Amino acid sequence: MAATELDQVVNLCKRRGFVYPSAEIYGGFRSSYDYGPLGSLMLRNVREAWIRTMVQQRDDVVLIDAAILAPPQVFEASGHLANFSDPLVDCTKCKQRFREDHLVDLGGGPDTCPGCGAKGSFTEARAFNLMFKTFAGPVEGSGAEVYMRPETAQGMFVNFLNVLQTSRKKPPFGIAQVGKSFRNEITPGNFIFRTREFEQMELEFFVPPAESAEWYDYWCKARLQWYVDLGIPADMLVLRPHDADELSHYSSGTSDIEFKYPWGWGELEGVAQRTNYDLTQHANHSGTKLDYFDQATNERYIPYVIEPAAGVNRAMAAFLLAAYDEDIINDEPRTVLRLHPRLAPYKVAVLPLSKKDTLTPLAHQIRRTLSERYMVDYDETQAIGKRYRRQDEVGTPLCVTVDFDSLEDNAVTIRDRDTTAQVRVPIADLLGEISARLGF
Ligand code: ATP
Repeated sequence: MAATELDQVVNLCKRRGFVYPSAEIYGGFRSSYDYGPLGSLMLRNVREAWIRTMVQQRDDVVLIDAAILAPPQVFEASGHLANFSDPLVDCTKCKQRFREDHLVDLGGGPDTCPGCGAKGSFTEARAFNLMFKTFAGPVEGSGAEVYMRPETAQGMFVNFLNVLQTSRKKPPFGIAQVGKSFRNEITPGNFIFRTREFEQMELEFFVPPAESAEWYDYWCKARLQWYVDLGIPADMLVLRPHDADELSHYSSGTSDIEFKYPWGWGELEGVAQRTNYDLTQHANHSGTKLDYFDQATNERYIPYVIEPAAGVNRAMAAFLLAAYDEDIINDEPRTVLRLHPRLAPYKVAVLPLSKKDTLTPLAHQIRRTLSERYMVDYDETQAIGKRYRRQDEVGTPLCVTVDFDSLEDNAVTIRDRDTTAQVRVPIADLLGEISARLGF
């Protein structure tokens, strides 16, 4: 695979309707993005791939969907009000603001401004809380303050007892959630890698304290493998344990799964040992016991938590970057997204060879049949070679071409994105053939 420049993927995303800058007709809203027809399908596929592995294929994890807005008590207890901050410095020369711990990565130094190059121009670092605050109800005042969640995780902790009582699960078991989180990042950037509004896929896995280390190892390995299984080459991924000074306020050990982005290695997912910190805090602050009574051992304990926390958007960026390729087919260069079929926005494109009335009824009939099971595109304009390349560029694994012979022999051609090989198959076998090729 050729080294992928970020610009190539950003351009493809804009050109083909994956990702647009937000509020573009008003000049754009800095570092905020909207997902177009293809991007929204791909985001959904990332979420669904995660839920499939983390919930559907296991018997020890359940899914919830908690509120985004929460009262201050939740974040007082979790420690986010006091601790969820980044060190902010201002350059007194150019007035730009930076995260102190990002200065070197941004091309400056601890003493040199990456904005204007001035030396020794920074203010003292001050803690900047990353949570967005707003007001619930018609009156703005301290009694009406609410926060937009900076992680989905607190939804699992405050619902621990509800889930325990209603799901018949017992440790080791997990509560999973996919949803939006909000952080007032000081320096958003690198396309959809770091934005102020983003989506997370988090699992809180509750275990007996003595099993915590074992489950931490298990989840580090399982989560790394998930990306490999969905097509990211293993040499573009690394598991990096945090140094002690990097650990979050709740963590006794964290490893990041890092991806080789065009600008260097960066976090894709964090796997943290949150100990019994959150449940203990919420129990103390709410006055509700959040523990588990093990009838087998006659012991009551507060479970320890292992948390694999991933970003939907960051994962999508990584999948796109890893999949982007350019090659030459029949002396013609093409761009191809070699996306895993589960992640590809469309699984199949139905392409009648011509727009003639004689072909369209059969082509539409095939489209309707396939779309019962798969997300299908339908395209009848331009030369067939051009249409194949349009599908290659958005990662559609298979094209089905309906031609004039189809009307006679009741067969169509399946064309493969990666090899460009074509085979003729009876229409009666089409669904089975496609399913065998996609793997689902
Ligand atoms: P970073 O060090 O990059 O700021 P973090 O360690 O604060 O990330 P976590 O709190 O571990 O991130 O969040 C879990 C996951 O949520 C991250 O691995 C990432 O995929 C995603 N995520 C966090 N912040 C953002 C953001 N601002 N934009 C997009 N995704 C994010």
